[in-house]
Formats: sequence, C-alpha cells, structure tokens
Amino acid sequence: MVYSHTQISQYLRCPRSYRYRYLDGWREKDIRAAMIFGRCFENAVGAYFVGKDCTEFFFKEWQVYRDTPFQYRKGESWDRLLHQGVHLLEKFVRDDRIRIRSPKENLQLKKTRPLSAGNEFVAFIDAIGKLDGKRCLIDWKTTTSRYTESPEGLLSLDPQLTCYSWITGIADVALVVFVRKHRPEIQYLKATISEGQRQSFGRLVETTSAQVESGHFEPHSGIRFPQNGCVSCPHLGLCLNNQHLIESNLIRRPGASDLDWLDELVD
Ligand code: SF4
Repeated sequence: MVYSHTQISQYLRCPRSYRYRYLDGWREKDIRAAMIFGRCFENAVGAYFVGKDCTEFFFKEWQVYRDTPFQYRKGESWDRLLHQGVHLLEKFVRDDRIRIRSPKENLQLKKTRPLSAGNEFVAFIDAIGKLDGKRCLIDWKTTTSRYTESPEGLLSLDPQLTCYSWITGIADVALVVFVRKHRPEIQYLKATISEGQRQSFGRLVETTSAQVESGHFEPHSGIRFPQNGCVSCPHLGLCLNNQHLIESNLIRRPGASDLDWLDELVD
C-alpha cells in the first residue's frame, strides 16, 4: 500500500469516509471553483520561479474553465477569481521574499519513505527554498480567509507541515497563504517542527496504516460543532442513502486506489 497525508488525515477524520473514497472508489466531483482555481494558481506560482510571466500563465490555465459549470460561493464568479488571482500574483512578485534555487529540482518534489509491512508513504512538497534568506520547506495555500497567527508557534501544530518535515527531515517550514479577499493579502507564516513531533507523526502513520489494513472502518459521525464532519462530508449521500446527493457530489471510479497518491498534488 502507498499512503499519503491526505489518506491518513481522511482516515483519522472518518474511517467510513476513507473506505468510501479509497476502497470503494467514490471520489468527489471536481465542481468546486475554489479547488480548480487553487490548482491553476499554484501552477502559476511555479511558472514564476522558472522565469515565465506568471499572470499570463495563470490566465491561460484559468481560461480553460471559463464556461465550466462550477459551484461558486456567493459573490464569486470566474471573472472575480481571475482578478483576485492576478492581484495576488502581482503582489507576490512585488514582495519578492522567496528564492528557489534550481526550480526544476526544488518545486513539486516527490518524497517517499518506507513504512513497515512493505508499505510506503509518498508526499509532494510544493517547494524547498529560502524565505527572507532562511532555508525552509514551503507550502502554498489559497483561501478566502486569513490563517490564525496567534498564539506564537501555532503553525507548528499543522499536521501537513509536520508530515512534510517528517518525510524530508527539514525542521524549518513555511506556509505562504494567498488570501482571496477584497484587498488581496499574502501571509508568510513560519514555524519549526521538533524532532519529537516528527517521530510522533511517524508513529501516527504506522498505527493508522495498521488500522486500515485490519479493516476498521467504523463511522466517526457528527453534525454538531466542533464534531460536525458529516455536514461538509462529500460522502454524506452514501451514509443517508440519498441518491440525489450521491449523483450531485460523487463519481465512482473503482480501482482508482492505485493512483491515490496523486491526491497530494491537489492539496
Ligand atoms: S457522512 Fe459522516 S459518518 Fe458518513 S462518511 Fe461522512 S463523516 Fe463519515
């Protein structure tokens, strides 16, 4: 089995949802504008580091979806997202706080790590470079609201960054958050992951993969804050046996689990 951070976190959120997704092949349809926007935008950020015009690159990528019937949030549209993306890219270039040496080797890096029982863990790291002159691994995020910055050190508890630190052995990590709002903002958040956190994450991966392989897929259902995972779960239709919800949100691709590690590319 090949595991990824997406798989481990999905199992921890709800083992039943994991089974639907990874064993039965029920995948969420790519109909959320924000998700596709994020993919196009991050490709444009990568294009910037290889010397291309990133706003032009972004326009070309996003233009493909101009007439796609996406689900847009209230007040959003294809045009609005285009303008937000362009403003954020222009600001990112002006800020000029990130350096990536040898971008072909240091962008979208595939990292693997062997697990017990012949399993493997795979992760795709957005970038390894320098933020304000200090070497770190970097993850890009696009969002509509700012990430919480206090109390100090909060970011070091982010499981995805801990995962990337574990698989690369790099302690210094950074999240570059592109906030899509009226006045676009970019947060450059830094953290240090300790050796103890990396070891603990490694144990979490081993215990979770052992549970998957022993066939434990009981639902962790919840509809009330903070345990309200069912409310936004793409598999809600399956749990409620609601055919309309299933057809609107899901597509079934049996056997897709061979390519599950590709999830990391869209995180
Ligand atoms: S709807 Fe709730 S119980 Fe069902 S898979 Fe999703 S999170 Fe789990």
